[in-house]
Amino acid sequence: MLTSFARCCAVLLCLISAFTHAGETVTQLHQRLTVLDSHLDTPMQLARPDWDITQRHSFGTDLSQVDVPRMKEGGLDGGFWAIFTPQGPLTAEGRTLASEHGLAVITRIRDMVAAHPKDFALALRAEDVPAIVARQQRVVFISMENAEPLAADPQRLQTYYRLGLRMLGLVHAANNDFADSATALPQWHGLSPAGRALVLEANRQGILLDVSHASDQVFDQVLELSSAPIIASHSSSRAITAHPRNLDDQRLRRLAAKGGVVQVNSFPSDLINREPNPERDKALGPLYREFRLAASLSPAEVADLAARIREVENRYPQPQANLDDFIRHLLHILQVVGADHVGIGADWDGGGGVQGLSDVSQLPRITERLLAAGYTESEVAKIWGGNLLRVLSEAQRTH
Ligand SMILES: [Zn+2]
Repeated sequence: MLTSFARCCAVLLCLISAFTHAGETVTQLHQRLTVLDSHLDTPMQLARPDWDITQRHSFGTDLSQVDVPRMKEGGLDGGFWAIFTPQGPLTAEGRTLASEHGLAVITRIRDMVAAHPKDFALALRAEDVPAIVARQQRVVFISMENAEPLAADPQRLQTYYRLGLRMLGLVHAANNDFADSATALPQWHGLSPAGRALVLEANRQGILLDVSHASDQVFDQVLELSSAPIIASHSSSRAITAHPRNLDDQRLRRLAAKGGVVQVNSFPSDLINREPNPERDKALGPLYREFRLAASLSPAEVADLAARIREVENRYPQPQANLDDFIRHLLHILQVVGADHVGIGADWDGGGGVQGLSDVSQLPRITERLLAAGYTESEVAKIWGGNLLRVLSEAQRTH
């Protein structure tokens, strides 16, 4: 019974993957949609010597997942390009370094747009997107992951707003001056006083607030305090995988009830439960640290590093997250909050990607699975970008 049901589903998927309606393939349908991802860590790659975003690369040898040729192949029209800042010490020196880093990265993003005007356009408002897509340019919104570059001063958000920042993630993997992280012990029990002021300042500026990586208490307090709907730019389901980075069903419902959107992440360790493997982590740790210094690595050195990472992964094998696991999270969240409150933020170039979905060229596979699960084209269009633009537009409306 189960086998014939499974076979039936496989045949259906096969039919859907071949054609949708009027002889159009899934890939053709997908290419027609405005496809946006809310969390691209690609700005980190831009610092690499001799790395050219207009050229095609391969994840296997280059450890990158986003470039113009692969965006075109996967129908990715753009999204939010993140200023990511690893959390350093909460000292005057740490804040100064974070401040310098934030300004350097936002400059790098703007330089990318300026250097390739045919390929990219800076987007400042949700309404800018249709014209950019019509010109076949890629959409570059700018977001911040970890508010540490503000150096504990909410007023500095104004500088970033003027430079194009339109979404703000408060915190990353460790607590900062504004908020507690989902993956650290509580320090502020939610937002600090400066964090509360920052939420109000973001509302005032019309900057969309992002609660991915924030603790549950921060989530609750931001949702309560913010006058605009909020986003989780790259988060998955805690009901499926009990990871503190993921959102439970009750919080998902409250986010949606206030008009918010959750963008589902493809970060492998958030998607499946794994036995701890300290030896593997110990062997991989220095290699990932090396990759974080990619601004000093030549293409040949990156290829060598990729080979060494693969060798360690093979030496300490562990269960791999795959496309089915990602889709399980996506469909569950869709079931909980409905197609008006879900999108995709797959953490490309920031550790995202699973077997069967290893870079942005493979995005049509998600569309294929959504259609197979019974979602209509207009629902799929909302998931790929409509909801993200709506929540941004709402945040900007108060401005
Ligand atoms: Zn992240």
